[in-house]
Amino acid sequence: MANEISKDIIKPLNEWLWKNGFVTTCIYYEEGVLQYNPASDEIRIPTEYDDEPDRLLMKCLRKLGLKKRFKGFTMSILHELGHAQTLDLFTDKESRKCDKIKEDYQDTIDENSDDYYLEYWKVKDEYAANSWAVMYANCFPKKVKELAKIIEENVNFG
Ligand SMILES: [Zn+2]
Repeated sequence: MANEISKDIIKPLNEWLWKNGFVTTCIYYEEGVLQYNPASDEIRIPTEYDDEPDRLLMKCLRKLGLKKRFKGFTMSILHELGHAQTLDLFTDKESRKCDKIKEDYQDTIDENSDDYYLEYWKVKDEYAANSWAVMYANCFPKKVKELAKIIEENVNFG
């Protein structure tokens, strides 16, 4: 289901990021999906959020050891922040290799199938982002609860 995201989410999201020591920022991005842009160190927040892949994301995160119950969208934001936090672990060559593997998946696996996401999240940069998100949620549940509250107040969960 598509869930509407209010533009008002940007200010409190950025305040949450800065307060917790991150230099990454969020911007409202009217054309596209939730995504991390490494060139500008920005998380692009779309106008609508499709929660269809959340079931698989949560399954994947629980396998990685996620203990707390947070909504898919909260964990998706942490996943994008996880990309920012783990980016420096990868050389440019390694990052390009990850991108290439993901592009190949788009050509060979049906994007709407469960297999697509399960394979996608095995690619090293995605695994790193998800592992970081699990670590952060498990270590800092209070901070993540605050993030969840900001999301709750600004996303119209259909
Ligand atoms: Zn990702």
